[in-house]
Amino acid sequence: MRSVDNPETAVLDAARDMLRRGLVEGTAGNISARRADGSIVITPSSVDYRDMRLDDLVLVSPNGAVLRAAQDRFPSSEMQLHLSCYRAFDDIGSVIHSHPVWATMFAVARQPIPACVDEFAVYCGGDVRCAEYAASGTPDVGLNAVRALDGRAAALIANHGLVAVGPRPDKALHVTALVERTAQIVWGARALGGPVPIPEDVNGNFAAVYGYLRTNA
Ligand SMILES: [Zn+2]
Repeated sequence: MRSVDNPETAVLDAARDMLRRGLVEGTAGNISARRADGSIVITPSSVDYRDMRLDDLVLVSPNGAVLRAAQDRFPSSEMQLHLSCYRAFDDIGSVIHSHPVWATMFAVARQPIPACVDEFAVYCGGDVRCAEYAASGTPDVGLNAVRALDGRAAALIANHGLVAVGPRPDKALHVTALVERTAQIVWGARALGGPVPIPEDVNGNFAAVYGYLRTNA
């Protein structure tokens, strides 16, 4: 089971970086990291990232029981999505859920983001799929996301946003930013007549590198 060193600091740093890079607004989106004992550090609900401090973070068990939280701090309402990912994938240490504009356009259209930029598959494992729709807050959001994440670092949440996984919060944030940027590029490339696919064997090699890095990070 993969865990993160100094998970609280790593989560808070990534939360600030996510805000600075324009990948979230206000209190939307959430970041978590797995500790060595299997418990999860997660950003609280309804706290602005600009004001968030270390003691605002909430500690929960793998099943979602609150183990430690400051007064009036509750785990993110989308916690179950995070927990589903940790349960399904032993080799991840962090989950980031976000609502960036370009990726969410694809999520609303329920279209995958094709791996049509060189080395995209090195970081994401291939096309970023869109999960089957489930209403926000229901357990099916997590179950459907896990299916779409198979062999990938990210998946679109239908009519909602994005989820990214990685060994550490900074890596999951890198994937989030890369998927968002690629969604914008694909949109533009479609206006120019459509992306020309990368040869399958090349993308296959990139995806193999992803698979290697994921298990040997
Ligand atoms: Zn959300």
